[in-house]
This record gives sequence, C-alpha cells and structure tokens, in this order.
Amino acid sequence: MDPLHARYPFLAAARESVREADIGLVAIVTGDERHPAVERGAERVRRALIDGTVRPDAEEGRRWNPRAELLSYPVARVLVSLVDAPGAVEKYASAEADTAYERFTDDFRNPDDGLKSTADKAISLDALLAEFDLSGDVAETADGDGYRIAVGKYLTLSSNLGGESWTLATRQLADGTVKITETELHELLREAVRQRVAAGLPTAVPDEIREGLTDEVARLEDTFSEVDISPDIDVLAPECFPPCVASLMERAQAGESLSDHAEFALVSFLTSANADTDELLALCGVDSDTAATAVRYRADRVGDESGAQYAPPSCETMQAYDECPVADEEDPTADARCDSISHPLSYYEDALAEAGTVGD
Ligand code: SF4
Repeated sequence: MDPLHARYPFLAAARESVREADIGLVAIVTGDERHPAVERGAERVRRALIDGTVRPDAEEGRRWNPRAELLSYPVARVLVSLVDAPGAVEKYASAEADTAYERFTDDFRNPDDGLKSTADKAISLDALLAEFDLSGDVAETADGDGYRIAVGKYLTLSSNLGGESWTLATRQLADGTVKITETELHELLREAVRQRVAAGLPTAVPDEIREGLTDEVARLEDTFSEVDISPDIDVLAPECFPPCVASLMERAQAGESLSDHAEFALVSFLTSANADTDELLALCGVDSDTAATAVRYRADRVGDESGAQYAPPSCETMQAYDECPVADEEDPTADARCDSISHPLSYYEDALAEAGTVGD
C-alpha cells in the first residue's frame, strides 16, 4: 500500500487502492474484532467537527499504519453521512482540505529527493495539478513571479472562496487566463480537494453498515450535543473573555505557534464572539501575509452562510487538551465563573450579562 495514499486518501489512485484492498467496507465495519480503520474513521470525523483538522490526535499518541489510515477515509465518509450535526458534511470536507493543504504545501517546500523514507513520500505540484485535471490550465508566468490559470477553472475553484480579492473584477485577465500568486494557487488546490471530498456526501448507507456503526455514531452525536451555545452573542468585549481564550490570545500575540486545536479553539471562539476579520487578525496577533491568509481561511470555514457554525470546544474538551488554565494541575487560575459553566461561550455570555453589554 502506497503511504502517499494514506496521506492523501482523496486521490483517484488511493480510491483504487481501497477498491483493490482485500477487505470491503461491510467486513471492516461488521467484523468480529473492531478494525482500526473504524476507530480512526471516527477520530477523523470527531477531529474534523471539533478541531477543524483530520490529523491524528498527537496527544493521544496513537500511530496508525498506512492501511488503517487509508481505509479510515471511506469509513469517515459513511460516519459523516450518518451523524446528525449541523453542517457536518461541509465542516468535514473543509477539515480534510485543510489537512491536505498543510501536507502538500509542506511537501512542495520539502520535495521528494529520493532519499526520504517511504512514510514521508511527498506529492509534487505537477502531480497534484494532474490529479485535478489542471495541468493544461495552469502555467508559471514567464518572469516566474506567479501563475496564470484558465479563467473557467479559476471561476470553478474560487466561487466558494470569500473575500473581494477573489472576484474577477479585481484580477488581471489576459488571453482567457487569470494571474494568481503561488499562495493563491495553493489555496485553489485546497478548494479542489474540498470540492472532491464533498462530492457525493452525504452518501446513502446500506442498513448493514449503518447498524455496524451505531455505537460510533451515538458517541459522535454525544460529543456534539455537549455543545449548547446561544447564537445571539453580538458584542465583542475581550475583557469578558474566559481565562482559556485570554491565555490563547496572549500566546498568539506573543508569536507562539499554537497547535491545531488551540488555534481552532481561539478562531472559532472569536468568530462566535462576533469578531470581524480585522479584529480577528489583531486579536490573534497576526502580522504576516501568510499567517493572515491562514487565519482568514480558518475563519471563513468555521462559519457558513446558513449560520451553522463550528462551536468552539467545550470546557471538557479544553481540559482534555490541556488548554484550560483553571484545570492546570501545577498553577491553576482561580475564576469563580468557571465553576458554574461548562462552555467558554457560556462564560462569555454570563460575563457580558454581568457587564450589561448583551445586545448593545
Ligand atoms: S473552565 Fe472553561 S471557560 Fe473556564 S478557563 Fe477552563 S475551559 Fe475556559
């Protein structure tokens, strides 16, 4: 099994590998012993909906072999089709795309020189362009300062991306092509991944597989139902933020590179607390174009037009991630309000109410 397929399970060749594997989805899900792909598939969905990434949870320290990793992708697609959670498919597809983006941009910076270990095999830009049928539609500019992409492909890939800078009116058009930067090309590739992952979801699930995944679906739905937040917060008041968010903000502003789940917790909280893009960038201490692009993208993805939004993690999840200062074993922060709530947004709502700023 090609380890590259485990890192990029949406590739056509990876799907072929799954088809050729000597085990079908029914056997994976209904076997006497729980197949590791089921556990990893459930982790994939949980991490996608709670943390905005599908990377294995480093803190759980579990290593998955390439076969379980690859087979977990079709399991996750089935699970996300079965769970009853708002915007689950969109959030899952975005998290798969975000994770792929982190991996392929890293691969482009550190290409496969033939000396890498098998597990670290990298994908090239040419291979990814070919995967999405873009080879003939994307070319580097003559002066090497960016790329040109055929306008039809540009429109297909940028139509779902927020921000005025993606509108055609703001672009240099010539000979049916649009000029883009290298970073923008990578963002369009991320969108190509997202569109491919989302295609066909939710999928119809045969009864046998549905029944085999009853426990995983119930556990996932329990995790999401912990989150009971009000959508009515319309005030941004950093002085009312809970200690966990204040601490994350301070660390981000000091230049610390936050972990996936810490960054997700911060961005999803600030978005829920009504921060606009400029406020978000300022509160996250973002001072470079690349970091700003990443934060903007994450902010776009934590909310959607229907109002279905990623809730920030609950206190229980923050504690499990070691991101709750009140639960710090060595130097706990004392905060009486934290004793009476179970979610950072509930803390914020209470603090706003006490300060008399709700609905102002
Ligand atoms: S108890 Fe909850 S709100 Fe308070 S610091 Fe911990 S995670 Fe944040």
